[in-house]
Amino acid sequence: MTATTIPTSLCNDCLRVRAFACWGAEGVCRCECGAGLFSYCSCDGCVSTAQMLAAGERDPRTLRLNPGFEIISWSAQGGLMERAQ
Ligand SMILES: [Zn+2]
Ligand SMILES: [Zn+2]
Repeated sequence: MTATTIPTSLCNDCLRVRAFACWGAEGVCRCECGAGLFSYCSCDGCVSTAQMLAAGERDPRTLRLNPGFEIISWSAQGGLMERAQ
């Protein structure tokens, strides 16, 4: 991890990862996936999920996602591509 004061945040809808310099300003926290405001979370669990995704982990159980989830691809900028159920 590089030293930074900006917390990593994970969108709980699409799993995009962003680092916000400013929380709370209208529009700043809105994800382009269309989730509502404050879909991003920077709690310990979400940060560790983001780190596992970045490290190449794709097992939904390990990532603490819905077990029916199948991750096709993921990128920090583009978020998740999942197989429709
Ligand atoms: Zn999103
Ligand atoms: Zn969280």
